Amino acid sequence: MSDCIFCKIVKREMPSQIVYEDDRVMAFNDINPLAPVHILVIPKEHLTNVLDINENNADLIGHIHLVINRLAREKGIAEKGFRIVTNCNPEGGQVVYHLHYHLIGGEKLKNFA
Ligand code: AMP
Ligand code: ZN
Repeated sequence: MSDCIFCKIVKREMPSQIVYEDDRVMAFNDINPLAPVHILVIPKEHLTNVLDINENNADLIGHIHLVINRLAREKGIAEKGFRIVTNCNPEGGQVVYHLHYHLIGGEKLKNFA
């Protein structure tokens, strides 16, 4: 999608600190980190949010989880713990409408729900 900032990051039309990339997924540091580790993991394909996941692309979510596991280990937060969040639509707090998973950790996180 031409006016999507995360699509622009995928196409390298917008700068970002990329920490992982393969043919389907990209991961980069959040510009406004909420914790010492705050990475966004996104599909390269433009999907709006989890509501765009269906029978034909559901394997992408498994792949994203493998990438999250790898990054959590690489960043040294796997054993201590971390949080994965994906916001959906306005009441879920979604601001950028390209599916993304927040990987947050590196300190004791407050419970929010
Ligand atoms: P959400 O509220 O789940 O849509 O979260 C959007 C996230 O994207 C926020 O945590 C922002 O800080 C982050 N963000 C927005 N623009 C950029 C950018 N250009 N590079 C990295 N992270 C960004
Ligand atoms: Zn997009």
